[in-house]
Amino acid sequence: MIDETHDPARRSWVAGADGHAEFPIQNLPFGVFCPADGAPRGGVAIGDHIFDVGAACAAGLFSGAARDAAEAVGEPTLNRFFGLGAGPRQALRRQLGALLDASAPARPELLHRAAECAMQLPAAVGDYTDFYAGIHHATNAGALFRPDNPLLPNYKWVPIGYHGRASSLLPSGVAVRRPNGQRNSQPGSPPAFGPSRRLDYELELGVWVGTGNELGSPVPISEAGGHIAGFCLLNDWSARDIQAWEYQPLGPFLAKNFASTLSCWVVTPEALAPFRAPAMTRAEGDPAPLPYLDDAADRAAGGLDVELSVSMRSAAMRAAGLPAQRLSVGNARYLYWSFAQMLAHHTAGGCNLRPGDLLGSGTISAPDPGGYGSLLELSAGGKTQITLPGGETRSFIEDGDEISFAAHARREGFATIGFGACSAVVLPSR
Ligand code: CA
Repeated sequence: MIDETHDPARRSWVAGADGHAEFPIQNLPFGVFCPADGAPRGGVAIGDHIFDVGAACAAGLFSGAARDAAEAVGEPTLNRFFGLGAGPRQALRRQLGALLDASAPARPELLHRAAECAMQLPAAVGDYTDFYAGIHHATNAGALFRPDNPLLPNYKWVPIGYHGRASSLLPSGVAVRRPNGQRNSQPGSPPAFGPSRRLDYELELGVWVGTGNELGSPVPISEAGGHIAGFCLLNDWSARDIQAWEYQPLGPFLAKNFASTLSCWVVTPEALAPFRAPAMTRAEGDPAPLPYLDDAADRAAGGLDVELSVSMRSAAMRAAGLPAQRLSVGNARYLYWSFAQMLAHHTAGGCNLRPGDLLGSGTISAPDPGGYGSLLELSAGGKTQITLPGGETRSFIEDGDEISFAAHARREGFATIGFGACSAVVLPSR
């Protein structure tokens, strides 16, 4: 899987791309951008620019399977591109790497300055499912909701998930409005309706489904990785007070259906090939996965070694010119279930996934508090407070706060790549 596209010595003719913290030539993530002319189409991030793949295709710069893939990338959503699968995507990556290489002729007319483009969601999402695969988060959150029974007995047997809401998925940068809902702070008393007082974020990775599967035809785990088109950051905004009252017996509803924020760039499995890691090792005494969820190749390399971080910047901090405050740094390795296990399980009963469907990993927390992926955990269920520069304190999110996620993959001998911004400001409820 490692080829010339990963060569850390490779340089680009695009100014500012070499050594770029997110998008050097070794990354080449896909996304849908809207330049000043107003027509959304797919492109590739390179440094602080976007390479117009559709325009390059029209100029005859691609051949073979890469040309078919480039034509699909030029459309206003990447659904058809995702559905083409790994072969054409890999062919396009190799030709894009060659076109953007410092040894190739510069084509500045095919670049757009990213700062002058609006980003859209990369695909029209038909369905969105959120898993719960971060075992440290599941244990910490479970202990707050059920102190004597944090991890339910099914957790180590079945990848838990719920069907989320595709209509309220938002690209990074779009403000999120605080939800109203039923809160019941005093057991035995009737609930009140109003703005959530315990608004939280959840640090997750999103998985973009590439090729789908026919209804009734499960994807075997050995093939599940081949159905993944790429990865992004996902903030599964969560209203903890609404969640605590409504979640039994069918799971979250209004606590999570008001908004989920996504990073806009699709980081491909190819770009992440140098950063694969073994799937999380099961502790002694844990059950072995059932055969349909067990695969030797997935055990060996089904994980991702990607550093994940969260920062917060309040309205007062922005007004005072203070930088964002880092709240945590974790890693995607802390997923009890691999992405292939999630995808295989999702289809095991016959459910069909379609190109552009989205899967969320569940909140990813490291074992130590410095890597907790939600305020629920960082504030011990609201019992402690975080102090921000300037003296403000937080247990949960206040109106005007901006929450930003970042993800970077680093490994000796390879160029560092990033996922781009996953960020939003919270507005008052309506
Ligand atoms: Ca979640």
